[in-house]
Amino acid sequence: MSDPYMSDPYARLARLALADGLPDLAQAHWVLDGKDVEMLPLLDAAFQPRRAHFGRSVSIHVLNNVQNGLCPEDCGYCAQSKVSGAAIRQYKMKSDEEIFEAAEAAAKGGAVRYCMALSGRGPSVQRAQRLGDLIARLKAEYGMEICLSAGIMGDEQAKILGEAGLDRLNHNLNTSEGHYNKITTTHTWQDRVDTLAAARRNGIETCSGLIIGMGEESSDIIEVGFKLRELETPSIPVNFLIPIEGNPVTEDGSLTPERCLRALCLMRFINPRAEIRMAGGREGNLRGLQSLGLYPANSLFVGGYLTTRGDPFAETYAMIEDAGFEVAGREDQERTAPGFRLSGQDALIRPDVAASPASAE
Ligand code: SF4
Repeated sequence: MSDPYMSDPYARLARLALADGLPDLAQAHWVLDGKDVEMLPLLDAAFQPRRAHFGRSVSIHVLNNVQNGLCPEDCGYCAQSKVSGAAIRQYKMKSDEEIFEAAEAAAKGGAVRYCMALSGRGPSVQRAQRLGDLIARLKAEYGMEICLSAGIMGDEQAKILGEAGLDRLNHNLNTSEGHYNKITTTHTWQDRVDTLAAARRNGIETCSGLIIGMGEESSDIIEVGFKLRELETPSIPVNFLIPIEGNPVTEDGSLTPERCLRALCLMRFINPRAEIRMAGGREGNLRGLQSLGLYPANSLFVGGYLTTRGDPFAETYAMIEDAGFEVAGREDQERTAPGFRLSGQDALIRPDVAASPASAE
């Protein structure tokens, strides 16, 4: 009897992912670029491993940019880099009070994780000690998991942070090794891989993902996906480039909502057990298809990114619930989504005809 999966590429991908197998290169390219790909069967195939490992839950992450700008690095996509002409508010590391205030708001909003991001090449040992102290106090006070994105670091800093109880260290690979020096020249892709290795050696879970829409080829996206699998990365943010005026790397014209969905599906097929996150730029790039992204992805950021705004809690929760998913940690709470809603100010449409003298007779 012939195997029904052999003739169904979607079922083959789903079955592979459910068995923790890896798609081959041809399958990966087909997911991103196949002209005969139908989006709904593709999303359904990606949903199968997502549902097996995460059900219908969506983890909410909130970013707090605790130090902004003033960075000596030259990452071309980043408004905080020394080469960006973007008009951002630059500030040194926030006070402990400000960081605690934002953590409290995130906890009240239902965030399961509080992510602190610092601009800069990487923390000194002294800075790592201050962060470690802060992390230990935040965990004791709010019970949220704490993530940190603080740049390149070695064992000395990672040990301090690991001992303080840091749950996750974020350091994105961003793009493939071959494409990396078109985006950044002041550090290497290997520096990023080494930082992730230092975190793992010191008992910290890693979070590492990519940014798509930076002039890369599909093969670059696929290579990052496979590398993240090789590094056994449990948390993968998929960022969609936010074009910021003044940055050297802006729109490459490749990002459509469908391209974004295909990339999310691909990351799920390659990394079936990972937390796949619709990260920076989901609002502007997925637009009306954001809720379809919840089929491959099981996590998202709320409230904005490092230097740009995002959708607030209420809109995001409504989008999640309207699509039949649940915000993780809020299963017992009432639905956030209100009833009938219209965007804009005025719910009444006043037909022109009512104002015309002819129709008034
Ligand atoms: S991504 Fe990080 S290291 Fe690169 S310029 Fe921005 S803040 Fe600096």
